[in-house]
Amino acid sequence: MNQVKYIFVTGGVTSSLGKGIIAASLAKLLQARGYRTTIQKFDPYINVDPGTLNPYEHGECFVTDDGAETDLDLGHYERFLNFPTSQANNVTTGRVYLSVIEKERRGEFLGKTVQVVPHITNEIKERMQLLGNTGNYDIVITEIGGTVGDIESLPYIESVRQLVWELGENNGIVIHLTLVPYLAAAGELKTKPTQHSVKTLMESGIKADILVCRTEHEISDELRNKLALFCNVKREAVIQSIDASTIYEVPNLMLEEGLDVVALKKLDLPKKSAPDLKNWNVFLHRLKNPKHVVNIGLIGKYVELQDSYKSILEAFIHAGAANETKVNVVSVHSEYIDASNVADKFRDLDGILVAPGFGERGIEGKIEAVRYARENNIPFLGICLGMQMAVIEYARNVLGYKDANSTEMNGGTSHPVIDLMEEQKSITDKGGTMRLGAWKCDLKDNTLAQKVYNTNSILERHRHRYEFNGDYLEELEKAGLKASGTNPDTGLVEIVEIEKHPFFIGVQYHPEYKSTVANPHPLFVNFVAATVKAKQK
Ligand code: GLN
Repeated sequence: MNQVKYIFVTGGVTSSLGKGIIAASLAKLLQARGYRTTIQKFDPYINVDPGTLNPYEHGECFVTDDGAETDLDLGHYERFLNFPTSQANNVTTGRVYLSVIEKERRGEFLGKTVQVVPHITNEIKERMQLLGNTGNYDIVITEIGGTVGDIESLPYIESVRQLVWELGENNGIVIHLTLVPYLAAAGELKTKPTQHSVKTLMESGIKADILVCRTEHEISDELRNKLALFCNVKREAVIQSIDASTIYEVPNLMLEEGLDVVALKKLDLPKKSAPDLKNWNVFLHRLKNPKHVVNIGLIGKYVELQDSYKSILEAFIHAGAANETKVNVVSVHSEYIDASNVADKFRDLDGILVAPGFGERGIEGKIEAVRYARENNIPFLGICLGMQMAVIEYARNVLGYKDANSTEMNGGTSHPVIDLMEEQKSITDKGGTMRLGAWKCDLKDNTLAQKVYNTNSILERHRHRYEFNGDYLEELEKAGLKASGTNPDTGLVEIVEIEKHPFFIGVQYHPEYKSTVANPHPLFVNFVAATVKAKQK
């Protein structure tokens, strides 16, 4: 087996510089040169996984096929590389400590004092090499969350230092992402924060091999020389990362800057052929040259924070390009929608998506949004909670069950059309206990679902505790809300749709997690197509 090569990506100066996008872009280029590449993310917080986090904290929780609740950067990795990630691709401090403490309880440390160094760092290093040791990859990129100098990042930085040393010359390198701020008053770009950040890294014994500098303005040759000299990197290893109009532009920008070539050189690997980005660039071209424009309402309660619905927004970008359509996503806060203002708020919308979510806040507004879409023949897509709201809306306004609800919102409803899943009834812990990951779903013939997917069996990712209550299936179907997709083993209803509507579909799963640049999700593609059609009418 060939030596697996490791690239570590650390961040300095400030958070939110887009380490995930740089890591994903580099991975894309290496993959496009023919290297089997994967990316993993190590997060310094103490939650065992982000599943218990409110979206306002770190944005959306991304779910993998194997049911891991992970950081949203894994979504970027999948969208760029078109390759499924798993639990192994995301590790948190909580997970590391949990594992070490469990080992301690089992007596595996044989009476030793258990310490951050070596026990926590050993656990981190082991996990850093887990994917590399499978033999499935030539290059493993590891993104270290947080900012260098943070107290909680220290064990990771120390682990990287040790691992780079253990791996030996040319087998492990460090890319440091920093900010080169522009001071408008002085009319200058400033390198000092980067110098300090590199110095902080150095204090932990790590010398950055490559600097990636986020900037709003072109970095001059003079400044590049200065950065190289004072940060102790080769001139060619100073990479500019200028603000881009879309994240999907970044691989091309990194190619122009030679990030992949410098990394390969440092890793003593051949360049192989020039990266094959043909399909990627076709996508980019379509994205930038739309022929149509539509407005799609995203009805949710976490809309203040863009990252809360990251995968949905990205899925619209993929589907928009596939339709040569610019999708303007109009965020509408569900808490402030009611019967008196819905027509006004939705006047300019060509399509309505009701978002996933938990808890009671904002659900009446979501139900109102569904009603509006249903009654006015506006293309509708309901995802997870959005699908559940579609069922409740139908039960209330078509069947006439005025207090129909989900038992998540109202345990005393006389019509629990959405109810806790049987296997959930005995669960009390909140972390990692939902119905998670990929489950099969059979599609009925001659339904919208089957037309959209063009197959009879699909595999989609889930994250929920409540489900369509089968007791109401017959009644709802008779009244026109059809179950077009069900789980083959349990009969659980996964998809509902209305026949007499241009496009009305609700899905219990999360299609957005599986949309990639190479494979835009068919539900989103068809939904956007329906909005274009509706608008033309
Ligand atoms: N709260 C709902 C449930 O648990 C929906 C979850 C979601 O939208 N992801 O079933």
